[in-house]
Amino acid sequence: MAQKIQRPKGTADVTVSEVYKWHFTENLLRDKARIFGYRETRFPVFEHTELFVRGVGDTTDVVQKEMYTFEDKGGRSMTLRPEGTASTVRSYIENGEAQNGAPYKAYYIVPNFRYEQPQAGRLREHHQFGIECFGAASFEADAEVISLAASFIKALGIKTKLRINSIGCPACRPAYYKALRDYFKSYENDLCETCRGRLEKNPMRILDCKSPVCQGIAEKAPRALDFLCEDCGAPFEGLKRTLNDTGVPFEIDTGIVRGLDYYTKTVFEFVFDGIGAQGTVCGGGRYDGLIEQLGGAPTPAVGFGCGLERLIIAATASGFVFPPEDKDGVFIASADEAGRRAAARFAAELRDAGVPAQTDLCARSLKAQMKQADRCGAAYTLILGEQEAENNSATVKNMATGEQVSCALSAADIIKVIKKGQA
Ligand SMILES: [Zn+2]
Ligand SMILES: [Zn+2]
Repeated sequence: MAQKIQRPKGTADVTVSEVYKWHFTENLLRDKARIFGYRETRFPVFEHTELFVRGVGDTTDVVQKEMYTFEDKGGRSMTLRPEGTASTVRSYIENGEAQNGAPYKAYYIVPNFRYEQPQAGRLREHHQFGIECFGAASFEADAEVISLAASFIKALGIKTKLRINSIGCPACRPAYYKALRDYFKSYENDLCETCRGRLEKNPMRILDCKSPVCQGIAEKAPRALDFLCEDCGAPFEGLKRTLNDTGVPFEIDTGIVRGLDYYTKTVFEFVFDGIGAQGTVCGGGRYDGLIEQLGGAPTPAVGFGCGLERLIIAATASGFVFPPEDKDGVFIASADEAGRRAAARFAAELRDAGVPAQTDLCARSLKAQMKQADRCGAAYTLILGEQEAENNSATVKNMATGEQVSCALSAADIIKVIKKGQA
């Protein structure tokens, strides 16, 4: 036998028997997005590398260590998308979406690619549900985005803590950065090499370094919340008030900075305790500078990303039972050659009428076909033999109750039987 080929490290298969969990989750997310007035957008799996270097930030772990970057045959540097926001912004600018009026409200469900050490729910290829709201500067937009996330997390029965923070804006950041630099300078020799490089350029990035030594030092670092200007402080108060008004519980966590450079003002995370240290099932915030930074007009923006793998793990760990997909349709079993020909003809008729229909494809015995009918999830089985083919009738078996009735071999009559739920 030829040698088997395995899937690459950090990737996963979703098998035909597991996919119902994904269908359920994706349908739930699409439904919540629709209820909040967000429409789906789609964009390419790979983009020019520069989009992420400029859009995600060249001091982030994502850009410095984790991107799948390659040169295409034309000598251009391309990167498999590591996150969805930069692509959404590029598409928003490129397609002139601003002309359609604010706010622009979009969602996507896409695979992202990051070369990092795989862990539970954090794969090199992972799937992200993302929400983006462009053109609304108000804290009500922040609250809406957070409420949307809270709604599907609740629907999946996941007990999370919502943690919110504000990390300031370009007006209040210089004073905060100065305080951070002053603080970290005294530990400069203990910081990891990456963080020493971040000290001048972007000291806030040190706060989410994964090195335990850097994390220890960062614990007592100054907090952005103590440096907020009026433009940042008042909306943060408004956000807290709105979350209280709308029954979304939260706590303040001054340690949240998010791993991407584009965030300003509000940042938030929904944290679940059950998946180990990396328990964030959904995280996001405001990024008012990003659209301008990528060549658009200055436009406020807020959104979040949510990993589907983590969401499904967290729901399962919380005891949520994904409903199996409904049994439906008809399996047409045939007892002999005449029955097989009648089965093929009748399957075609049922499918044309929109009724799922399957027939034996493996030349099995009638008994084996009945087992297959059960396995393939059919709600009814039709048994056709020579006699039935001659009489133009069939025996219909309800797979749930085991009841059998005789029925004319016409799609209309079978649909009647199915609708009545009889047989
Ligand atoms: Zn500010
Ligand atoms: Zn570090």
